Amino acid sequence: MFFADIPGQKEIKERLQRMISEERIPHALLFLGNEGSGNLPMAITFVQYTFCTNRQNEEPCQKCAACQKILKLGHPDLHFVYPIASSKEVRLSEHVMQEFREAFLANNFMNQQDWFDELNAENKQPTIAAEESNNIIKKLSYTSYEGGYKFMVIWQPEKMNASASNKLLKILEEPPDMTIFILVCHNAEQLLTTIISRTQLVKFGIADDDAIVTVLQRKGLSEQTARYCAGMAEGNYREALLIAREQDSNTAQLQHFQGFMRVALNFNVFKINPWIDQTAAMGREKQKYFLQYGLQLLRDCLLLNSGGETLVRSRNEELDFLKKFSPFVHMGNYERIVEEFNKAYYHVERNANPKILFMDMSLVVNELLNIKKPV
Ligand SMILES: [Zn+2]
Repeated sequence: MFFADIPGQKEIKERLQRMISEERIPHALLFLGNEGSGNLPMAITFVQYTFCTNRQNEEPCQKCAACQKILKLGHPDLHFVYPIASSKEVRLSEHVMQEFREAFLANNFMNQQDWFDELNAENKQPTIAAEESNNIIKKLSYTSYEGGYKFMVIWQPEKMNASASNKLLKILEEPPDMTIFILVCHNAEQLLTTIISRTQLVKFGIADDDAIVTVLQRKGLSEQTARYCAGMAEGNYREALLIAREQDSNTAQLQHFQGFMRVALNFNVFKINPWIDQTAAMGREKQKYFLQYGLQLLRDCLLLNSGGETLVRSRNEELDFLKKFSPFVHMGNYERIVEEFNKAYYHVERNANPKILFMDMSLVVNELLNIKKPV
């Protein structure tokens, strides 16, 4: 990862870079911040930056052997501890390292719930048990593979039970040589104050909209979409990423709705068939979502037509289309089009043949759209 992939936190990035350039890394750091602050990816980027042999512009190069290992979470001097749902087979974090790796690589900003979902913990409350602390001592007693620092990243130390906390405290009091602990914590209130007092605090703030927009644009989003996602996410970058993904599917739905209305308006059997095939292939859940989404756009059409613009909920991208399309939806046909969408929804839920269903619907909607607006 790059530091630039984490929104905001400028002062923290500079402070961490300085620790490395001055070779003054404290033996225990407490990265405290809420789930969307990026304290976990920051910890890993910091380790990557420390090990990188070809740093450029205050970023890890992503190419050297050390960077490559970190990017796969496979560096022998980077260890992890995190809450697990223990069982006979799973007693230590390393027993579910593969799951952790996959979850983190799929979403660098995963939160506690994302991780618990990955573990299929269901009714269990994942914790960090005392056995884990014994294992930490064992692991850190070996010399490092690459002859430099060893890092121990403890994610959610607040999930340690009392005996694990006390054992960790002992380790922090007499830290092994060349070992750096990074405690990545979301809730310091649940952490022993004696642990907190033995760490150097790095407190993460809430990223502002501009910082989130910059990172989303790095990911290829347009400025307009990035701004919308950042505004909705209120400083939580994980949330912003989820909204961005949803936007993506909304954009696809809008295109699908536009396609339908285009062929329904000027009914043409050659054009309607590909649309129907595509809709049939979407599956029932998406068909239902499409119909609900269509109902929302139809409602906004009527509002645009009757001076209720302030009540419209559609986004800019949708509005551009609705402004052109809304004259076709009016008091003379609105209710009956809505009825058609609702009827289709009812039949999709009951497993009707989608090809017949959507063909019927497009024929009726074609008739209804061609009803003249009453004067
Ligand atoms: Zn590198």
